[in-house]
Amino acid sequence: MAVKSDIEIARMAQKKPIMEVGAGLGIPAEQLAPYGHDKAKVGADFIRSLADRPDGKLILVTAINPTPAGEGKTTTTVGLGDGLNRIGRKAMICVREPSLGPCFGMKGGAAGGGYAQVIPMEDINLHFTGDFHAITAAHNLLAAMIDNHVYWGNALEIDMRRITWRRAMDMNDRALRQMVGALGGVANGFPRECGFDITVASEVMAILCLAEDFFDLERRLGGIIVAYRRDKSPVFARDLKADGAMAVLLKDAMQPNLVQTLENNPAFVHGGPFANIAHGCNSVIATKTALKLVDYVVTEAGFGADLGAEKFFDIKCRKAGLMPAAAVIVATVRALKMNGGVKKEDLGREDVATLTRGCANLGRHIANVRRFGVPVVVAINHFTTDTDAEVAAVKDYVSRHGADAILCRHWAEGSAGISELAQRVAELADGGQAEFKPLYADAMPLMEKIETVASKIYHAGEVTADKAVRDQLIAWEKQGYGSLPVCIAKTQYSFSTDPSLRGAPEGHVVHVREVRLSAGAGFVVAITGEIMTMPGLPSAPAAERIFLSDEGNVEGLF
Ligand code: ADP
Ligand code: MG
Repeated sequence: MAVKSDIEIARMAQKKPIMEVGAGLGIPAEQLAPYGHDKAKVGADFIRSLADRPDGKLILVTAINPTPAGEGKTTTTVGLGDGLNRIGRKAMICVREPSLGPCFGMKGGAAGGGYAQVIPMEDINLHFTGDFHAITAAHNLLAAMIDNHVYWGNALEIDMRRITWRRAMDMNDRALRQMVGALGGVANGFPRECGFDITVASEVMAILCLAEDFFDLERRLGGIIVAYRRDKSPVFARDLKADGAMAVLLKDAMQPNLVQTLENNPAFVHGGPFANIAHGCNSVIATKTALKLVDYVVTEAGFGADLGAEKFFDIKCRKAGLMPAAAVIVATVRALKMNGGVKKEDLGREDVATLTRGCANLGRHIANVRRFGVPVVVAINHFTTDTDAEVAAVKDYVSRHGADAILCRHWAEGSAGISELAQRVAELADGGQAEFKPLYADAMPLMEKIETVASKIYHAGEVTADKAVRDQLIAWEKQGYGSLPVCIAKTQYSFSTDPSLRGAPEGHVVHVREVRLSAGAGFVVAITGEIMTMPGLPSAPAAERIFLSDEGNVEGLF
């Protein structure tokens, strides 16, 4: 029998009306704003009314360093949520909303896969409830107000050469990366260099995902630094009086989106910041609301645990006061083999020795997550090509590192294939072993924070940075930003800054090329290597294969 594609499986699902899914969580109908029949936004009044309820247990799904072989974090997050419900626990999942850019580029869909998906997958991947468009609009409103302010006399004395706020669009379009705007004469303003970032890289996205409520959102938007004056003093969005209107544009986008899994279990899909120049997690408001509604909340972080989990702990949990109870590290035999040095075309051949070598990558992530005081279990996301000997080798390696690795078949079997992991995660979360603590204290100087992440998480030998970078960090400390956490933008493929260095490299040099202040979101970005904030499309983009069938179905998302 031919294996069904993700979209074919999603289309066969027996969906429940979304109001019924909401009722299962105790959300009154008048506090659910339906977007069609299978999506709804949860009302702000209802969320406020939950404040005094106890919190459920928060479970993070993270992964080894990604390889082109695929790991399946979202698939496992969804599968584990269904698995917990299957063993009689009240659980829901919180995941990020995919960006349109990668959807038409390389990636296809990003709503899980196989028999572990959130639905309606076409909608989730395409426009959904319009949140990303609202974020784009709020971002561009601020951009328009900057140029308009300069046009009408520039009372704030913005240095035209030091405008840091760019424009945004949720599409991969390399032609927009760098440009000169306001050409065409006096009526069009003052020409200056500018450019576009993809919406998921916008600080507005990061802010929406870290804000506690609407008023916190508005306050943080006001704190965005848009430009500097000639004396290098910052100009804020609130100086331009843009914060109120931006927040209004985001009023509905701020509310979590309720959908369901293939097995009709509730899920919030809300927010989706980049995991390099931003923190890569779904929204705080969705996570906190879910914790009030169920006993177990399963959520994911982007990329591998060196980037995603570190930012989840050091930025999201630190800032929002969240206390994760357990973490799942997703690994696949295929990706571990690639971490050991197997080439993609040789993945079909059993190779226990190379696999075991590649397990060093997994071992490092296990130790790293434990540093945060969070107990760990490994999920082996099963691929049909995995051999018994290979699975046994991973289990053996992990048990020698004092953890369990559990084989999971949720992609092929749904919740039935992941009961053992669900049982183990529930035990870990209920066991009360977690003693979560961020990696570094707020009071540590910014450069030292970067060095701490680099040495303790990446196992780097040294962090280098030009004097200009170090001086900038000190200047921000003097301006009162020294207590912010750092958000390191690094390749997701390696613990080092060299994407080809797989496994568990030691003693490498991390060079900080540039630092940026996301003052509204509340973190300092340290950029190592090349980071693209506006991706391009590949030579044969996925868009070429996406179309509407004669039956009215979206084809080509996978
Ligand atoms: P991540 O969240 O880590 O980027 P996803 O969960 O989105 O990964 O999965 C990426 C792709 O891999 C999806 O298309 C999914 O269907 C596929 N996939 C995930 N797990 C498996 C598996 N066990 N077997 C085959 N394909 C899988
Ligand atoms: Mg994912």
